[in-house]
Amino acid sequence: MDDISQERVHKVVENLPCPHCRKPIEYTLAHAGRAGKCPSCGEDVRMPGRDLAVLEEVRDLLAKICNMAVVLIILAILQFLLFIVSR
Ligand SMILES: [Zn+2]
Repeated sequence: MDDISQERVHKVVENLPCPHCRKPIEYTLAHAGRAGKCPSCGEDVRMPGRDLAVLEEVRDLLAKICNMAVVLIILAILQFLLFIVSR
């Protein structure tokens, strides 16, 4: 691995609050999706995988779109019913 990609992999991605002691843990792409130990309290911590985070974002977005679609369909049905009733 050359220096540039090494640097990339070890770049800090995020601060993750430790689920045990709430202290922020810096984690890098190299740690993503792996288990490690919190430097503050020594408890086992699983770093979230990057792919997983992206998947969760996509899932949330899809859920929002689905909610919007349901609302639009209900509105369309209501309008249709109103149209029938008002004839
Ligand atoms: Zn901790």
